[in-house]
Amino acid sequence: MTAEEATEASKKMSEEIRLVVERCFNEYVRQSFDAKSMPDPKAYANFTPASVKDARIQIYRREVDGVVSEWAVVDTDTHKFVINTSQLDYFQIFNKTTGFNVRMGKTFEDDPSWCPLGPEIADIEVVTGSCPKVNSENCRWCYKNNTSAAGKVMTLEQFKKIVMGFPRNLSQVALGITGVKSNPYLADMLKWLREYGIVGNLTLTGADLDDEMTDVLCQYCGACAVSCYDKAKDLCYNTIKKLHDTAREKFKRNMSVNMHIVIADFSMTHIMDVLNDIKDGKVPGLKSVVMLHAKPVGRAKNLDCSLSKENLTKVMKFCLDNDISFGFDSCNGHNVQDILVEMGKSHLCTSIEPCESARISIYCNVEGKITPCSFVEHVFEDSAIDLLNGNTKLMDVWATDKMLNGFRKCNKCSTSCPIYALDCK
Ligand code: SF4
Repeated sequence: MTAEEATEASKKMSEEIRLVVERCFNEYVRQSFDAKSMPDPKAYANFTPASVKDARIQIYRREVDGVVSEWAVVDTDTHKFVINTSQLDYFQIFNKTTGFNVRMGKTFEDDPSWCPLGPEIADIEVVTGSCPKVNSENCRWCYKNNTSAAGKVMTLEQFKKIVMGFPRNLSQVALGITGVKSNPYLADMLKWLREYGIVGNLTLTGADLDDEMTDVLCQYCGACAVSCYDKAKDLCYNTIKKLHDTAREKFKRNMSVNMHIVIADFSMTHIMDVLNDIKDGKVPGLKSVVMLHAKPVGRAKNLDCSLSKENLTKVMKFCLDNDISFGFDSCNGHNVQDILVEMGKSHLCTSIEPCESARISIYCNVEGKITPCSFVEHVFEDSAIDLLNGNTKLMDVWATDKMLNGFRKCNKCSTSCPIYALDCK
Protein backbone atom coordinates (compact mmCIF):
# COMPACT_ATOMS: atom_id res chain seq x y z
CA MET A 1 0.00 0.00 0.00
CA THR A 2 1.42 3.44 -0.91
CA ALA A 3 1.70 6.21 1.68
CA GLU A 4 -1.26 8.08 0.09
CA GLU A 5 -3.44 4.95 0.03
CA ALA A 6 -2.55 4.25 3.63
CA THR A 7 -3.51 7.80 4.66
CA GLU A 8 -6.81 7.54 2.77
CA ALA A 9 -7.56 4.10 4.25
CA SER A 10 -6.61 5.42 7.66
CA LYS A 11 -9.13 8.26 7.38
CA LYS A 12 -11.87 5.99 6.07
CA MET A 13 -11.39 3.31 8.64
CA SER A 14 -10.51 5.34 11.68
CA GLU A 15 -14.04 5.42 13.06
CA GLU A 16 -14.52 1.73 12.29
CA ILE A 17 -11.24 0.89 14.02
CA ARG A 18 -12.18 2.86 17.08
CA LEU A 19 -15.33 0.77 17.31
CA VAL A 20 -13.36 -2.46 16.94
CA VAL A 21 -10.90 -1.34 19.60
CA GLU A 22 -13.73 -0.51 21.94
CA ARG A 23 -15.33 -3.87 21.28
CA CYS A 24 -12.08 -5.71 21.88
CA PHE A 25 -11.43 -3.74 24.98
CA ASN A 26 -14.82 -4.57 26.37
CA GLU A 27 -14.96 -8.18 25.22
CA TYR A 28 -11.48 -9.35 25.96
CA VAL A 29 -9.93 -7.19 28.59
CA ARG A 30 -12.91 -6.69 30.86
CA GLN A 31 -13.82 -10.38 30.57
CA SER A 32 -10.31 -11.19 31.70
CA PHE A 33 -10.62 -8.85 34.67
CA ASP A 34 -13.77 -10.70 35.68
CA ALA A 35 -12.04 -14.03 35.30
CA LYS A 36 -9.26 -12.67 37.51
CA SER A 37 -6.77 -14.10 35.05
CA MET A 38 -4.89 -10.85 34.48
CA PRO A 39 -1.79 -10.34 36.58
CA ASP A 40 -2.45 -6.64 37.16
CA PRO A 41 -5.83 -5.26 36.12
CA LYS A 42 -4.88 -1.83 37.48
CA ALA A 43 -2.57 -1.48 34.51
CA TYR A 44 -5.63 -0.75 32.38
CA ALA A 45 -7.17 1.76 34.72
CA ASN A 46 -6.62 4.70 32.39
CA PHE A 47 -7.29 2.91 29.12
CA THR A 48 -10.93 3.64 28.47
CA PRO A 49 -12.70 3.71 25.12
CA ALA A 50 -12.81 7.50 25.56
CA SER A 51 -9.03 7.72 25.53
CA VAL A 52 -9.00 6.07 22.10
CA LYS A 53 -10.68 9.14 20.59
CA ASP A 54 -7.44 11.17 20.40
CA ALA A 55 -5.36 8.27 19.20
CA ARG A 56 -3.08 8.19 16.16
CA ILE A 57 -4.24 5.32 13.94
CA GLN A 58 -2.13 3.57 11.33
CA ILE A 59 -3.47 0.95 8.92
CA TYR A 60 -1.35 -1.78 7.30
CA ARG A 61 -2.02 -4.62 4.87
CA ARG A 62 -0.05 -7.88 4.98
CA GLU A 63 -0.03 -10.96 2.77
CA VAL A 64 1.50 -14.07 4.32
CA ASP A 65 1.27 -17.50 2.62
CA GLY A 66 -1.54 -16.17 0.38
CA VAL A 67 -3.63 -14.88 3.30
CA VAL A 68 -4.31 -11.13 3.24
CA SER A 69 -4.88 -9.34 6.53
CA GLU A 70 -5.39 -5.74 7.56
CA TRP A 71 -3.93 -4.35 10.76
CA ALA A 72 -4.57 -1.29 12.84
CA VAL A 73 -2.17 0.26 15.30
CA VAL A 74 -3.84 2.65 17.73
CA ASP A 75 -1.31 4.83 19.50
CA THR A 76 -2.37 7.00 22.45
CA ASP A 77 -0.13 8.91 24.85
CA THR A 78 -0.44 6.13 27.40
CA HIS A 79 -1.11 2.94 25.41
CA LYS A 80 -0.49 1.14 22.16
CA PHE A 81 -3.18 -1.17 20.83
CA VAL A 82 -2.49 -3.54 17.90
CA ILE A 83 -5.21 -5.54 16.18
CA ASN A 84 -5.55 -7.79 13.15
CA THR A 85 -8.84 -6.32 11.90
CA SER A 86 -9.39 -9.01 9.22
CA GLN A 87 -9.06 -12.29 11.11
CA LEU A 88 -9.40 -10.84 14.64
CA ASP A 89 -6.74 -13.30 15.79
CA TYR A 90 -4.10 -10.93 17.16
CA PHE A 91 -4.61 -8.28 19.84
CA GLN A 92 -1.94 -6.54 21.84
CA ILE A 93 -2.22 -3.83 24.45
CA PHE A 94 0.91 -2.18 25.81
CA ASN A 95 0.79 0.28 28.71
CA LYS A 96 3.56 2.84 28.10
CA THR A 97 3.56 3.99 31.71
CA THR A 98 3.81 0.68 33.54
CA GLY A 99 5.31 -1.53 30.79
CA PHE A 100 2.43 -3.97 31.25
CA ASN A 101 1.87 -5.92 28.02
CA VAL A 102 -0.82 -8.40 26.99
CA ARG A 103 -1.10 -10.31 23.73
CA MET A 104 -3.95 -12.64 22.78
CA GLY A 105 -5.45 -14.47 19.81
CA LYS A 106 -9.07 -15.17 18.91
CA THR A 107 -9.71 -15.91 22.55
CA PHE A 108 -7.82 -14.80 25.62
CA GLU A 109 -6.34 -18.30 25.93
CA ASP A 110 -4.87 -18.26 22.39
CA ASP A 111 -1.20 -17.32 22.27
CA PRO A 112 -0.16 -16.05 18.80
CA SER A 113 3.30 -17.47 18.04
CA TRP A 114 4.43 -14.48 15.98
CA CYS A 115 3.29 -11.10 14.73
CA PRO A 116 3.03 -11.01 10.92
CA LEU A 117 2.81 -7.20 11.04
CA GLY A 118 6.20 -6.65 12.65
CA PRO A 119 8.09 -7.02 15.93
CA GLU A 120 6.79 -5.46 19.14
CA ILE A 121 10.30 -5.13 20.56
CA ALA A 122 13.60 -4.21 18.90
CA ASP A 123 17.00 -4.58 20.50
CA ILE A 124 19.16 -1.95 18.76
CA GLU A 125 22.88 -1.76 19.49
CA VAL A 126 23.85 1.91 19.30
CA VAL A 127 27.53 1.70 20.26
CA THR A 128 30.40 -0.76 20.57
CA GLY A 129 33.66 -0.25 22.49
CA SER A 130 34.45 2.72 24.79
CA CYS A 131 33.31 0.45 27.60
CA PRO A 132 33.85 1.92 31.08
CA LYS A 133 35.77 -0.53 33.25
CA VAL A 134 34.21 -2.05 36.34
CA ASN A 135 36.79 -2.66 39.09
CA SER A 136 39.52 -1.74 36.59
CA GLU A 137 38.60 -4.47 34.12
CA ASN A 138 36.30 -5.06 31.21
CA CYS A 139 33.59 -7.65 31.80
CA ARG A 140 35.27 -11.07 31.73
CA TRP A 141 32.43 -12.77 29.89
CA CYS A 142 31.22 -10.00 27.57
CA TYR A 143 29.25 -11.77 24.84
CA LYS A 144 29.95 -8.85 22.50
CA ASN A 145 33.73 -8.85 23.07
CA ASN A 146 33.55 -5.14 23.96
CA THR A 147 36.59 -3.41 25.47
CA SER A 148 37.53 0.14 26.45
CA ALA A 149 39.03 0.78 23.00
CA ALA A 150 36.91 3.06 20.80
CA GLY A 151 34.37 1.19 18.68
CA LYS A 152 31.47 2.16 16.41
CA VAL A 153 28.79 4.74 17.15
CA MET A 154 25.31 4.84 15.59
CA THR A 155 24.22 8.40 14.80
CA LEU A 156 20.82 9.83 15.64
CA GLU A 157 19.91 10.00 11.96
CA GLN A 158 20.84 6.34 11.42
CA PHE A 159 18.83 5.36 14.48
CA LYS A 160 15.77 7.26 13.23
CA LYS A 161 16.08 5.72 9.76
CA ILE A 162 16.08 2.22 11.26
CA VAL A 163 13.18 2.77 13.68
CA MET A 164 11.01 4.63 11.14
CA GLY A 165 11.31 1.61 8.85
CA PHE A 166 9.46 -0.55 11.41
CA PRO A 167 5.65 -0.76 11.44
CA ARG A 168 4.23 1.38 14.26
CA ASN A 169 3.29 -1.64 16.35
CA LEU A 170 6.88 -1.45 17.61
CA SER A 171 6.25 -0.49 21.21
CA GLN A 172 9.65 -0.88 22.90
CA VAL A 173 13.26 -0.40 21.87
CA ALA A 174 16.06 -1.75 24.05
CA LEU A 175 19.10 0.39 23.29
CA GLY A 176 22.29 -1.68 23.44
CA ILE A 177 25.03 0.42 24.99
CA THR A 178 28.42 -0.08 26.63
CA GLY A 179 28.62 3.02 28.87
CA VAL A 180 25.92 5.67 29.14
CA LYS A 181 28.38 8.23 27.76
CA SER A 182 29.81 6.07 25.00
CA ASN A 183 27.31 7.27 22.39
CA PRO A 184 26.95 11.09 22.41
CA TYR A 185 23.50 10.80 20.77
CA LEU A 186 21.99 8.53 23.44
CA ALA A 187 19.99 11.28 25.19
CA ASP A 188 18.57 12.52 21.87
CA MET A 189 17.65 8.96 20.85
CA LEU A 190 15.70 8.36 24.07
CA LYS A 191 13.95 11.73 23.81
CA TRP A 192 13.03 11.20 20.15
CA LEU A 193 11.68 7.69 20.86
CA ARG A 194 9.26 9.14 23.43
CA GLU A 195 8.03 11.73 20.96
CA TYR A 196 7.61 8.98 18.35
CA GLY A 197 5.39 6.96 20.71
CA ILE A 198 7.91 4.22 21.59
CA VAL A 199 9.32 3.42 25.01
CA GLY A 200 13.12 3.14 25.23
CA ASN A 201 14.82 0.90 27.79
CA LEU A 202 18.45 0.10 28.49
CA THR A 203 20.89 -1.81 30.67
CA LEU A 204 23.89 -0.10 32.27
CA THR A 205 26.68 -0.90 34.70
CA GLY A 206 26.63 2.48 36.44
CA ALA A 207 30.42 2.84 36.07
CA ASP A 208 30.15 6.12 34.11
CA LEU A 209 26.75 7.33 35.35
CA ASP A 210 26.91 11.03 36.20
CA ASP A 211 24.10 13.36 37.32
CA GLU A 212 23.38 14.58 33.80
CA MET A 213 22.82 11.09 32.41
CA THR A 214 20.89 10.05 35.52
CA ASP A 215 18.40 12.81 34.71
CA VAL A 216 18.18 11.74 31.07
CA LEU A 217 17.48 8.09 31.95
CA CYS A 218 14.98 9.00 34.67
CA GLN A 219 13.11 11.33 32.36
CA TYR A 220 12.92 9.31 29.16
CA CYS A 221 13.50 5.57 29.84
CA GLY A 222 10.58 3.25 30.41
CA ALA A 223 12.72 0.99 32.57
CA CYS A 224 16.41 0.56 33.31
CA ALA A 225 18.32 -2.53 34.31
CA VAL A 226 21.63 -2.46 36.16
CA SER A 227 24.10 -5.30 35.64
CA CYS A 228 25.35 -6.90 38.82
CA TYR A 229 28.91 -8.18 38.55
CA ASP A 230 30.78 -10.43 40.90
CA LYS A 231 32.99 -8.27 43.19
CA ALA A 232 31.16 -5.07 42.11
CA LYS A 233 27.73 -5.51 43.66
CA ASP A 234 27.91 -2.20 45.55
CA LEU A 235 28.22 -0.31 42.27
CA CYS A 236 25.03 -2.06 41.13
CA TYR A 237 23.10 -1.43 44.38
CA ASN A 238 24.14 2.24 44.50
CA THR A 239 23.18 2.76 40.84
CA ILE A 240 19.75 1.20 41.41
CA LYS A 241 19.11 3.51 44.37
CA LYS A 242 20.32 6.60 42.50
CA LEU A 243 18.05 5.92 39.51
CA HIS A 244 15.04 5.00 41.62
CA ASP A 245 15.38 8.01 43.94
CA THR A 246 16.00 10.53 41.15
CA ALA A 247 13.01 9.29 39.12
CA ARG A 248 10.77 9.51 42.16
CA GLU A 249 12.02 12.74 43.75
CA LYS A 250 12.98 14.84 40.74
CA PHE A 251 10.65 13.53 38.02
CA LYS A 252 7.76 12.32 40.18
CA ARG A 253 7.53 8.93 38.53
CA ASN A 254 7.97 5.30 39.52
CA MET A 255 10.49 4.15 36.93
CA SER A 256 11.13 0.41 37.08
CA VAL A 257 14.76 -0.23 37.97
CA ASN A 258 15.68 -3.90 37.64
CA MET A 259 18.85 -5.88 38.16
CA HIS A 260 20.43 -8.06 35.47
CA ILE A 261 22.54 -10.96 36.65
CA VAL A 262 24.03 -13.81 34.65
CA ILE A 263 22.89 -17.27 35.70
CA ALA A 264 24.75 -20.55 35.16
CA ASP A 265 26.16 -23.15 37.51
CA PHE A 266 29.42 -21.18 37.72
CA SER A 267 27.64 -18.02 39.02
CA MET A 268 25.51 -19.67 41.74
CA THR A 269 27.60 -18.39 44.68
CA HIS A 270 27.28 -14.80 43.43
CA ILE A 271 23.55 -15.18 42.70
CA MET A 272 22.70 -16.59 46.13
CA ASP A 273 24.81 -13.89 47.79
CA VAL A 274 22.87 -11.16 45.91
CA LEU A 275 19.47 -12.80 46.54
CA ASN A 276 20.27 -12.88 50.26
CA ASP A 277 21.10 -9.15 50.10
CA ILE A 278 17.75 -8.48 48.41
CA LYS A 279 15.96 -10.54 51.06
CA ASP A 280 17.75 -8.55 53.79
CA GLY A 281 16.61 -5.22 52.28
CA LYS A 282 20.10 -4.19 51.14
CA VAL A 283 18.98 -3.23 47.60
CA PRO A 284 16.54 -0.33 48.04
CA GLY A 285 14.72 0.83 44.91
CA LEU A 286 14.95 -2.55 43.16
CA LYS A 287 11.84 -3.68 41.28
CA SER A 288 12.84 -7.15 40.03
CA VAL A 289 15.92 -9.28 39.68
CA VAL A 290 16.17 -10.60 36.12
CA MET A 291 18.40 -13.60 35.54
CA LEU A 292 20.01 -14.02 32.11
CA HIS A 293 21.21 -17.44 30.98
CA ALA A 294 24.95 -17.35 30.16
CA LYS A 295 25.74 -18.23 26.52
CA PRO A 296 29.02 -19.50 25.09
CA VAL A 297 29.71 -16.55 22.80
CA GLY A 298 32.18 -13.64 22.68
CA ARG A 299 34.62 -13.79 25.61
CA ALA A 300 32.48 -16.56 27.13
CA LYS A 301 33.03 -18.74 24.05
CA ASN A 302 34.89 -21.44 25.93
CA LEU A 303 32.99 -21.09 29.19
CA ASP A 304 30.83 -23.91 30.52
CA CYS A 305 27.43 -22.16 30.55
CA SER A 306 25.36 -25.10 31.76
CA LEU A 307 22.65 -24.55 34.35
CA SER A 308 21.37 -27.52 36.29
CA LYS A 309 17.69 -27.95 37.02
CA GLU A 310 18.61 -28.28 40.68
CA ASN A 311 20.27 -24.85 40.75
CA LEU A 312 17.51 -23.14 38.78
CA THR A 313 14.90 -24.66 41.10
CA LYS A 314 16.88 -23.49 44.14
CA VAL A 315 16.94 -19.89 42.83
CA MET A 316 13.23 -19.85 41.94
CA LYS A 317 12.22 -21.38 45.26
CA PHE A 318 14.32 -18.87 47.17
CA CYS A 319 12.66 -15.96 45.34
CA LEU A 320 9.15 -17.35 45.80
CA ASP A 321 9.69 -18.17 49.48
CA ASN A 322 11.11 -14.72 50.20
CA ASP A 323 8.70 -12.68 48.11
CA ILE A 324 11.43 -11.45 45.76
CA SER A 325 10.11 -10.20 42.43
CA PHE A 326 12.08 -12.11 39.78
CA GLY A 327 12.24 -12.77 36.06
CA PHE A 328 14.31 -14.50 33.39
CA ASP A 329 15.31 -13.84 29.81
CA SER A 330 13.21 -15.68 27.26
CA CYS A 331 16.19 -18.02 26.60
CA ASN A 332 15.34 -19.61 29.95
CA GLY A 333 11.56 -19.57 29.42
CA HIS A 334 11.08 -23.29 28.76
CA ASN A 335 13.26 -24.28 31.75
CA VAL A 336 11.35 -21.99 34.10
CA GLN A 337 8.01 -23.13 32.70
CA ASP A 338 8.80 -26.81 33.39
CA ILE A 339 9.85 -26.07 36.97
CA LEU A 340 6.77 -23.93 37.68
CA VAL A 341 4.53 -26.76 36.49
CA GLU A 342 6.38 -29.21 38.74
CA MET A 343 5.98 -26.78 41.65
CA GLY A 344 2.21 -26.68 41.05
CA LYS A 345 2.39 -23.02 40.05
CA SER A 346 1.36 -23.31 36.41
CA HIS A 347 -0.85 -20.21 36.72
CA LEU A 348 2.39 -18.18 36.66
CA CYS A 349 3.24 -19.58 33.21
CA THR A 350 1.01 -16.97 31.48
CA SER A 351 3.79 -14.46 32.17
CA ILE A 352 6.44 -16.60 30.45
CA GLU A 353 7.49 -16.17 26.86
CA PRO A 354 10.03 -18.66 25.52
CA CYS A 355 12.39 -17.45 22.74
CA GLU A 356 10.42 -14.96 20.65
CA SER A 357 13.27 -13.84 18.38
CA ALA A 358 12.17 -13.10 14.79
CA ARG A 359 8.58 -13.64 15.95
CA ILE A 360 7.87 -10.83 18.41
CA SER A 361 11.32 -9.28 18.80
CA ILE A 362 14.32 -8.57 16.60
CA TYR A 363 17.95 -7.47 16.91
CA CYS A 364 19.75 -4.77 14.94
CA ASN A 365 23.49 -4.21 15.38
CA VAL A 366 25.40 -0.92 15.32
CA GLU A 367 25.85 -1.24 11.54
CA GLY A 368 22.10 -1.56 10.98
CA LYS A 369 22.26 -5.32 10.29
CA ILE A 370 19.25 -7.37 11.36
CA THR A 371 19.51 -10.87 12.88
CA PRO A 372 17.03 -12.73 15.16
CA CYS A 373 18.85 -11.91 18.44
CA SER A 374 22.16 -10.44 19.58
CA PHE A 375 23.63 -13.82 20.50
CA VAL A 376 23.29 -15.28 17.00
CA GLU A 377 24.71 -12.32 15.09
CA HIS A 378 27.77 -14.28 13.95
CA VAL A 379 25.63 -17.27 12.89
CA PHE A 380 23.64 -15.19 10.39
CA GLU A 381 26.41 -12.80 9.35
CA ASP A 382 26.01 -13.58 5.64
CA SER A 383 22.21 -13.38 5.54
CA ALA A 384 21.70 -10.38 7.89
CA ILE A 385 19.31 -7.73 6.54
CA ASP A 386 21.00 -4.36 5.96
CA LEU A 387 18.81 -1.43 7.05
CA LEU A 388 21.38 1.33 6.59
CA ASN A 389 23.07 0.86 3.22
CA GLY A 390 20.18 1.24 0.80
CA ASN A 391 16.45 1.68 1.22
CA THR A 392 15.39 -1.58 2.88
CA LYS A 393 12.83 -1.04 5.62
CA LEU A 394 12.14 -3.73 8.19
CA MET A 395 8.39 -3.46 7.49
CA ASP A 396 8.93 -4.51 3.85
CA VAL A 397 10.91 -7.67 4.60
CA TRP A 398 9.76 -8.83 8.04
CA ALA A 399 7.19 -11.35 6.81
CA THR A 400 9.03 -12.49 3.67
CA ASP A 401 12.76 -12.62 4.43
CA LYS A 402 14.22 -16.10 3.97
CA MET A 403 16.56 -15.99 6.98
CA LEU A 404 13.85 -14.71 9.36
CA ASN A 405 11.29 -17.19 8.03
CA GLY A 406 13.72 -20.08 8.35
CA PHE A 407 14.50 -19.09 11.92
CA ARG A 408 10.90 -18.62 13.03
CA LYS A 409 9.76 -21.83 11.38
CA CYS A 410 12.43 -24.06 12.88
CA ASN A 411 11.10 -26.95 14.92
CA LYS A 412 13.03 -26.34 18.09
CA CYS A 413 12.62 -22.65 18.77
CA SER A 414 9.12 -22.80 20.19
CA THR A 415 10.60 -24.79 23.05
CA SER A 416 14.40 -24.51 23.20
CA CYS A 417 17.12 -22.25 21.85
CA PRO A 418 17.74 -23.30 18.23
CA ILE A 419 21.42 -22.33 18.43
CA TYR A 420 22.78 -22.98 21.95
CA ALA A 421 22.28 -25.89 24.34
CA LEU A 422 20.44 -24.00 27.12
CA ASP A 423 18.13 -26.74 28.37
CA CYS A 424 18.62 -27.57 32.04
CA LYS A 425 19.92 -31.04 32.77
S1 SF4 B 1 17.92 -17.64 19.74
FE1 SF4 B 1 18.69 -18.57 21.63
S2 SF4 B 1 20.05 -17.02 22.49
FE2 SF4 B 1 18.73 -15.96 21.00
S3 SF4 B 1 16.99 -15.20 22.20
FE3 SF4 B 1 16.41 -17.21 21.37
S4 SF4 B 1 16.90 -18.65 23.03
FE4 SF4 B 1 18.04 -16.75 23.46
